Formats: sequence, C-alpha cells, structure tokens
Amino acid sequence: MRAFVVLAIGLALGSTAALAQPKSAGTPDPSLVEDLVAANRVLVELGVLDGFGHVSVRHDKDASRYLMSRSMAPALVKADDILEFDLDNAAVDAKGQAVFLERFIHGEIYKARPDVKAVVHSHSPSVIPFGVSKTRLKTIYHMSSFLGVDVPVFEIRDVAGPASDLLVRNAGLGADLAKVLSDNTVALMRGHGSVTVGTSIPQVVFRAYYTEMNARLQSEAMRLGEVTYLTAEEAAAAAKTNDGQVMRPWELWKRKAMKPE
Ligand SMILES: [Zn+2]
Repeated sequence: MRAFVVLAIGLALGSTAALAQPKSAGTPDPSLVEDLVAANRVLVELGVLDGFGHVSVRHDKDASRYLMSRSMAPALVKADDILEFDLDNAAVDAKGQAVFLERFIHGEIYKARPDVKAVVHSHSPSVIPFGVSKTRLKTIYHMSSFLGVDVPVFEIRDVAGPASDLLVRNAGLGADLAKVLSDNTVALMRGHGSVTVGTSIPQVVFRAYYTEMNARLQSEAMRLGEVTYLTAEEAAAAAKTNDGQVMRPWELWKRKAMKPE
C-alpha cells in the first residue's frame, strides 16, 4: 500500500526519483544490524577508522542488497542510522539523509565478489606508505596471513586521470577498484587508504585491524634490516587456522565498544 502511494505521488509529480528508488528486501536480522553498529565503533577503537571510513554488510535476506550507515562519523552510528542499498548503490530509503560519497566501493565489490559478505573502507595510517612507495605490503606474521603474499595497489590515476580528488565517487571507479582487488582480501588505494573484504562482520573487522598491524610491524622490521616474510604456503595454512578464531577477539572488541557510556 505504502509503495503504491509513493509510486502514485511520483507519477503525479512527474518525478522519476520515486520510481528509481529500489524496493526493500525486508527487515534484516536485528543481530546483523547490531553487529554492524558494533563494527563501526570497534573499528574506531582499534584505530582503523576515525571520523572517516565506512563498513558495510550484505543483507541477510537478499544478496543484491547491502546495509551501511548514513554519512556520519562511525563512532556515533546507532541502529537507526543503518540504511539499505542496492548494488547500484541507491538507498532504498535514505530518509532525506546524506549517504556516503564513496558507497560505490561497496556495491561494486559485492557485485564482483559473490563470496564477499562485508567490506571495510578505511584510511588507516600505517598502510598509507605502502600505497605510495615502491615497497609492497607483504605478510609479516601469522595474524595477517589472510593477506596472502602480496597486496595489490589501486592507482586511481590510471583510470581517473591526473587531476582526480582520489575518491571513488562513481560506479566506474568502484568497478575499477574491484578489478584490482580481484580475489584478494585487501587492496591498497594509492594516496588514499585501503579496502578490506570478508565473509562476515567479525572476519572483516579482524582483517582490517591486522592489515593495519602488519603495515606497522613491517615498517618497523624494515628499519632493522632484511625481513623474512611468510611463504604462500605458510600464509594459506595460518589463514585457515585463524578463520576459526575470529570470534575470540570479536566478542572482546564488541563488548568493550558497546559498553554504556
Ligand atoms: Zn576514502
């Protein structure tokens, strides 16, 4: 009934906005929304997000929808701020509120990677040097074994030219980033930040945090001299073990972040 009224108003006004608005996949599982709110706060506490950056999760009832907060500082996100988007990054109902300019990162990765259920985009500081120098981010210890052996770098200049503001501000740039990410867990974005993907909220938070830690530790180890990195086989074995362990830190991080003020 409500949809009909919206459609009727849209037609009466001659506006296509109401027609373009995607239909909701329904109410998501409340525990998924609770975890998404927690992830926003946890990532701030862990130093991955600050006033900027975002985390999203695929809708549990429809793989062609994802959930993400409206445009706001992650530490302040509450359940009411969570919006539903289709994979073309249109909000089902933005309630008149601003949405993230760089939401295209999320929709285009969900489109390209059916296995991905959660995405973090951050500007976490220790990672930045590896996106702008010739030194590649490599797996330095078992906690970051999900990185594999080498992390790809998205050079936006290759696709957006020499005068872009470095932001993934349209679907084309989002698709270009997804192409560079390919089947990896992390891609660096030169002069900007990084994107991390996972199969769940606890896993993507774990990965975003240990990507930052790997970058910090690699910079320190390189100052000491020659560094021994994990082999592809070690990384694969350790990543398999860690995938069974992501709930341990998640429960701790979530409890700390959701403590009443
Ligand atoms: Zn950004």
